[in-house]
Amino acid sequence: MIEVTHKISIPSILEVGKGNIGNLGQLIKKGMFKKIAIYFGEGIYELFGEIIEKSVREAGIEISNVAAVTNIDFQEVAVKAFEIPNDVEALIGVGGGKAIDVVKYMSFLRKLPFISIPTSTSNDGFSSAGASLTLNGRRMSIPAKTPYGIIVDIDVIKGAPEKFIYSGVGDLVSNITAIYDWKFEEDNNKTTVDDFAVMISKKAVNSFVRTEFKSIRDDLFLKELVDSLTMNGIAMEIAGNSSPASGSEHLISHALDKFLENPELHGVQVGIATYIMANVQQHRVSRITKILSSTGFFDYVSTLKMKKSDFKKAVEMAKDIKPNRYTYIHIDKNIELAKKIIDENEILSKILI
Ligand SMILES: [Zn+2]
Repeated sequence: MIEVTHKISIPSILEVGKGNIGNLGQLIKKGMFKKIAIYFGEGIYELFGEIIEKSVREAGIEISNVAAVTNIDFQEVAVKAFEIPNDVEALIGVGGGKAIDVVKYMSFLRKLPFISIPTSTSNDGFSSAGASLTLNGRRMSIPAKTPYGIIVDIDVIKGAPEKFIYSGVGDLVSNITAIYDWKFEEDNNKTTVDDFAVMISKKAVNSFVRTEFKSIRDDLFLKELVDSLTMNGIAMEIAGNSSPASGSEHLISHALDKFLENPELHGVQVGIATYIMANVQQHRVSRITKILSSTGFFDYVSTLKMKKSDFKKAVEMAKDIKPNRYTYIHIDKNIELAKKIIDENEILSKILI
């Protein structure tokens, strides 16, 4: 029998707004936790540790332990997870990508609710079910679980370096090329798209690109960015895979991660690859150009001195990253076209060396 509907998990707590860090204790009261453990990314405790601990204690919740997250090695994370005392009822991860990934995975192993508190919006990992950890030194995406709670303080996001905002923009804009790839895959009888996941992914990016803003640090712009990245996590949960928010452009970024000594932020690489693939697909190029220009994304990229030759190499490697998929970049003539675009496109010639 084929199931006609499917069940998904979505966060029970979703709070995106100003001042949330200082109000954390109240915001997690819904969970009725008696004792929790809190993990901070590197340098994050120094910024928000005291205010978070105070707020949690004032809400009558005991803190079992507070620790810093530095290592994202799969085995180390597993060992740490089983050192957590048995009376801890929830795990809180505060920080950038690494802290979120590590605590997400520990909570999955211990079957505990995970509360995700990103301090920057560099990608959609804070809302997704997958954890990006290293196995034998290689970064991999490992299935974990959707967060029980997502709490974002707009003032904290606003204070993060602009590169994290640009990375979030790039990761979100990639929905456009990813959905086009997914449909292409379906048109070629290689998969079946999930209509609901497509709708959420499209709504997420469209609502964001239509938001008017003066600066990328506008409250509304940041709230839209966070909400839309959150919707990405849900779209992937519905699909049961990353296809609604990850297509050929993500494969190019994953390829760069494989050979660059110092890869740039995930969403930064993905954003450039999105622009390349939109030109290959000939789909919504002007919309993507507009958002990446008006936000200052392209200007930021031009300061990084990323190489055209690296992108051409990544384009060639991309299809082997996920040989089971069938995106635009899995077609030989599109690989050649992408390389030609990297060589000749006016914007890419300005921002890459
Ligand atoms: Zn991504």
